Amino acid sequence: MPFCEDCAKYWAPSAMGSDGSCPSCGRHLDGPVIASTTPRPRVTADDLDLKKLAGQQGDDPSAPWHFKLLVTGVVVYVGWRIVNLFV
Ligand SMILES: [Zn+2]
Repeated sequence: MPFCEDCAKYWAPSAMGSDGSCPSCGRHLDGPVIASTTPRPRVTADDLDLKKLAGQQGDDPSAPWHFKLLVTGVVVYVGWRIVNLFV
């Protein structure tokens, strides 16, 4: 939100002048940040890379080693608890 230091006041972009000036003192502020009328490029399924968005590096899609270790540990523990039910 644009701030005029001379007036010590925040101005809503819609309250500012069309050239981005302060409505009280006329000082040029950062400029009105009114939603642009130019259309943004649309994101389609063709140009959307989910692996890139997820931050995955490299081509290896397998689970990390610590996840496999955790699953192995859980299976061993639950198996041991099941065996203890009948012993
Ligand atoms: Zn001002």
